[in-house]
Amino acid sequence: MHCEEISALKEGLRESIPVPGSSDYSISTMAETESSVIIVGGGLAGLVAATELSRRGVHAIIVDQENEANLGGQAFWSLGGLFCVNSASQRRLGIKDSRELAMQDWFNSARFDRDTDLWPRKWAEAFVSFATDELENYAKSFGMSFASVGWAERGSGNANGHGNSVPRFHVTWGAGPAVVEAFEKPVREAAKKKLVEFRFRHRVDQIIVDEHTGAAVGVRGQILEPSETLRGVASSRKAVDSFELFGAKVLITSGGIGGNVDLVKKNWPVDRLGPQIPKSFVIGVPAYVDGRMIEIAEEAGAHIINSDRMWHYTEGLNNWNSIWPQHGIRIIPGPSSLWLDATGKRLPPFLYPGCDTLATLKHICATGYDYTWFILNRSIVTKEFALSGSEQNPDLTSKSIWKTLQQRLFGWSPTPPVQAFLDHGVDFVVESSLPDLVHRMNELAEEKGGPSLDLEQIKREIESRDNQVENKYSKDAQIMLIRNAQNYWPERLSRLSKLHKILDPGHGPLIAVRLNLLTRKTLGGLETNLDANVLRPDGTAFPNLYAAGEVAGFGGGGVHGYSSLEGTFLGGCIFSGRTAGVKIAESMKG
Ligand SMILES: Cc1cc2nc3c(=O)[nH]c(=O)nc-3n(C[C@H](O)[C@H](O)[C@H](O)COP(=O)(O)OP(=O)(O)OC[C@H]3O[C@@H](n4cnc5c(N)ncnc54)[C@H](O)[C@@H]3O)c2cc1C
Repeated sequence: MHCEEISALKEGLRESIPVPGSSDYSISTMAETESSVIIVGGGLAGLVAATELSRRGVHAIIVDQENEANLGGQAFWSLGGLFCVNSASQRRLGIKDSRELAMQDWFNSARFDRDTDLWPRKWAEAFVSFATDELENYAKSFGMSFASVGWAERGSGNANGHGNSVPRFHVTWGAGPAVVEAFEKPVREAAKKKLVEFRFRHRVDQIIVDEHTGAAVGVRGQILEPSETLRGVASSRKAVDSFELFGAKVLITSGGIGGNVDLVKKNWPVDRLGPQIPKSFVIGVPAYVDGRMIEIAEEAGAHIINSDRMWHYTEGLNNWNSIWPQHGIRIIPGPSSLWLDATGKRLPPFLYPGCDTLATLKHICATGYDYTWFILNRSIVTKEFALSGSEQNPDLTSKSIWKTLQQRLFGWSPTPPVQAFLDHGVDFVVESSLPDLVHRMNELAEEKGGPSLDLEQIKREIESRDNQVENKYSKDAQIMLIRNAQNYWPERLSRLSKLHKILDPGHGPLIAVRLNLLTRKTLGGLETNLDANVLRPDGTAFPNLYAAGEVAGFGGGGVHGYSSLEGTFLGGCIFSGRTAGVKIAESMKG
């Protein structure tokens, strides 16, 4: 059937709105079943799936509640870090990595321990293999390339615990926009050939299930009023009409819950992170990451698992230049900042910058306050502060080799975005003397209703640490961590401040940063089998309903288990989106 015919048929069907269960209804769904795959969500997972479907000649309709400016979803805002294993980029940098080492790291971080981890485990094995054998080349085949390999989530300090044994965070040259471009391009090409259609400002409120077959046959929802808002800006939710769309398969790629603090709090894992649910967060994702589709899918009969598994950061800043509501920016810190809790006590080993996100979150929650402090100085902020987000890394995002080298290798001052936070960020304090610094920190603490810091205690914490840097060896685990990082030469050159005393005036002025909790990723979601087919609570496949990306816990309903190794979200969207596209196309071609 040609697309024009299909469109005409759809229009005709819309005239006589099908009543579920009526004979008209089944005729309409049958007719359209032969045609399209409805993809709910035009983020990275949706784009990758549409790419794979169109490559196989299958027609897809991408439905998204936002306007066209937002195509690509969260991935656009990302740094573009991808988890690859034993890649050519790693080998060039002298990193010895392997499938076995990555598998060991993954499973020690994931700590799968539930009956519902059956499919997440299988997805984890499949993903680590994909990251080892295919991801780098797959990404490159779409024009992506990598600027560097960073060392994220360095772990809990033991070989069989959480964390990456080696650097694996492959930063895309061009950051998030380049990741989106890689898959937007083939989708736009397919749209020209009428293999892909878009329905922007269409918000799905329901999955239509054929009551006779139990199969997903379409979606219905509201058409939202037109919106000219720029990418990432929250848009109007005013509905101007309703719609129904029928198709052969429905693929949900609607993202997680990170933009919906109420849902984050509702699903908070009090058994693991303690009973004190943090009161305030800054928000690390646009407002459209609202989690609604998860409940909508559940109402339709899908099985949701691991809702209590989430990935939120502990180094969040209030954005001085917000794009979305309560916009928070994450610091991706190097290892040297001294980390104190709200009362001024240093965080214990191995809760150091960039090591163990969730263990740090748990510790912070137990303090009863939802903020902590970094204390550092100008040398450390210059070399070690990176900010997550494509707009915070204009050198990388604009693919300027010169600016990247100038700012990250030879720079004697912070990158312009970091400097802007030093100048305008409400969480930053810059002072020449420690008494002045602590005085200003106390002003910020008061704003949060937090305790007043004692100058003598803060001085003791910093001096104790500083006394450990005189020798080439030390009993302080953070100093050991810094020395260890010196052995990875790209880090030594671009991300590490030479070991020095924080109170050395030659490295001043002193800087304190109030760190907020920042919501970001959803690790659980719709349970899926290895074909990306959504499962029902009884374990059977939900006919014609598929899910990929963050809404599916990046595969299986929680490929990460309890903890992530970073770069695994974009990678997980690519892998699960590709799987969904390929498997749906195969099933349609019989
Ligand atoms: C600032 C930032 C930095 C990041 N950095 C990294 C990184 O370096 N590495 C990494 O691996 N990951 C990173 N991530 C995470 C990663 O970008 C996301 O997990 C991933 O892009 C999610 O893609 P998705 O396709 O699953 O969903 P999304 O990108 O959230 O897209 C979902 C789409 O579905 C639409 N939608 C939702 N509900 C409905 C509905 N009911 N009806 C119609 N449409 C709907 C939304 O409007 C949206 O367009 C970062 C994220 C952010 C925000």
